[in-house]
Amino acid sequence: PRRFFVGGNWKMNGDKKSLGDLINTLNTAQLNSETEVVCGAPAIYLDFARSNLDARIGVAAQNCYKVPKGAFTGEISPAMIKDCGVEWVILGHSERRHVFGESDELIGQKVAHALESGLGVIACIGEKLDEREAGITEKVVFEQTQAIADNVKDWSQVVLAYEPVWAIGTGKTASPQQAQEVHDKLRQWMKANVSEEVADSVRIIYGGSVTGANCKELGSQPDVDGFLVGGASLKPEFVDIINARA
Ligand code: 13P
Repeated sequence: PRRFFVGGNWKMNGDKKSLGDLINTLNTAQLNSETEVVCGAPAIYLDFARSNLDARIGVAAQNCYKVPKGAFTGEISPAMIKDCGVEWVILGHSERRHVFGESDELIGQKVAHALESGLGVIACIGEKLDEREAGITEKVVFEQTQAIADNVKDWSQVVLAYEPVWAIGTGKTASPQQAQEVHDKLRQWMKANVSEEVADSVRIIYGGSVTGANCKELGSQPDVDGFLVGGASLKPEFVDIINARA
């Protein structure tokens, strides 16, 4: 059985006041202890989030660079993330890919270095609307997954997040059937290209307009092992999403 995983991606939102309030809500909430919970904080608030969040809740950076240190103005390394006690990093998010132009190759290098440094990686993939409409969803997500898989030795430290770009921040959630279909295809891909064991054990989580209202049906799909939540992760509603399988 795969442990249900719910990640919150705060993106570039919040301040010490509002994030402090959210942290307080999470720290005092009844959370299903069978669900693994991780909050993705802006880089400048990673230390703040890790220092204030309860130990039962993990913290993730939203990006990192591919080397440990050096003349890379504005970047942060996995070593620095770990130094703040933070356990995870989100890599390959669609906003990194499409707003900041990150390639599959760069994302792969980041995945390799983050894992070597001892961080867990939430690796994101997902097709754009025109790609879905052109019928190439599988081709796109398999290529993105290949670029990640080429850089993974220990899959126990990786969570794969399927986030269709057309569903992110749009209110247009993938239907439970649409999510299940892609998750099932991804697991089959894993079986054929990595191993049966990894295919059975890797968590594949869904992201894109997940809410308290739609999380139960999405989370009851056999190959949906949790969520990566944007907007709703900043609200008390995130507690309901954490407890989707309760
Ligand atoms: P929304 O939940 O706001 O659609 O964002 C999803 C996402 O991008 C999580 O990484």
